[in-house]
Amino acid sequence: MQVVYSPVHLAHDVVFETYMGIAVPANEVAERAERIRTALVADGGFALTGPTEHGEAPITDVHDPGLVRFLEVAWSELRRQGIPRAFLSADTYPNRSMFEGMSHEAIAALVREPEHVGGRAGFWGLDSAAPLVAGTYAASLAAVDVALTTVDLVLGGEQAAYGLCRPPGHHAARSMYGGYCFFNNAAIAAHAITKATGERVSIIDVDYHHGNGSQQIFWRRGDVRYISIHADPRRQYPYFLGRADEKGEGEGAGENLNIPLRAGATNEDYLAATDRAVEAILAVSGSVVVVSLGFDTYGLDPIGDFALTTDVYHEVGRRVAATGRRLVILQEGGYHRPSLGENARAWLRGAEGRPFEPLPAAGFTEGGSVVG
Ligand SMILES: [Zn+2]
Repeated sequence: MQVVYSPVHLAHDVVFETYMGIAVPANEVAERAERIRTALVADGGFALTGPTEHGEAPITDVHDPGLVRFLEVAWSELRRQGIPRAFLSADTYPNRSMFEGMSHEAIAALVREPEHVGGRAGFWGLDSAAPLVAGTYAASLAAVDVALTTVDLVLGGEQAAYGLCRPPGHHAARSMYGGYCFFNNAAIAAHAITKATGERVSIIDVDYHHGNGSQQIFWRRGDVRYISIHADPRRQYPYFLGRADEKGEGEGAGENLNIPLRAGATNEDYLAATDRAVEAILAVSGSVVVVSLGFDTYGLDPIGDFALTTDVYHEVGRRVAATGRRLVILQEGGYHRPSLGENARAWLRGAEGRPFEPLPAAGFTEGGSVVG
């Protein structure tokens, strides 16, 4: 299988994130993608290729140009405004109750992007869980190019291809970044596929978290079906979307399928949910499926609470590929670094119909260097 990878992700060099008001060691770090790349190279069955540039148009097909402009200048604005922070996090968010009683027209006129960069981050951001640093914009652009090059490979005839996107994307909505995500790589890919083929596209999102951004972007669209298996938002981020009764509206009515799972969800629970998702893929036409692939469903993940093991990733990959659809597989989350490479190998080998055996000895030390 071809793997699209760009070293530009390394520029998104995040050390801390904010969790409930305090800075904690970042989960979404460069080592994640490097672990996966190293494991896929060691496997021998994957061919790495670099992305080609696709420009800004495919991004603004999906995202508000204002969001793109903010992300482009956010770091230089933080410095220009003399704010001594190692990363940009918002100061104040426009909570919906701030505008209670006002008409939609009044809100549209009154809620404007401020000048203070902390206020601007609140205007465009969902949360404080997406630390922005000097290289974030460049890395986010590269992640989109990785996704779109993966689309090119599949539309060019590959049965499946994998884009090692970092930063991830599925929490980013049309006019909002958040949850470690800046541009929605999977949504940009899905939109590009509909544009190139005129076909319907399904997204299957197997990250531990609900992809609120992907849901929002396609909520009223009949040409992109969004199917997500995730932690129940009553107990987990993104808290305010991801429930089973969110089904889309207008032309998108019935095109959104959320499958929230309980804490401690097992391999068996997950495979039953996978079968429901596969059924929803097969219920609509289209030859290409976009996979939002996350491994924060793993039993040892530091921010998840499912109990999945490596073997189940192989089986989920096999079942999704058994739809017969061509697969654009894009990396989202997964934060237990020691297992990421093996879990990715398992999923992708399953999707190719190859058996999975753990790699002997090779791996990373705690410091991140390759051993064995
Ligand atoms: Zn996640």
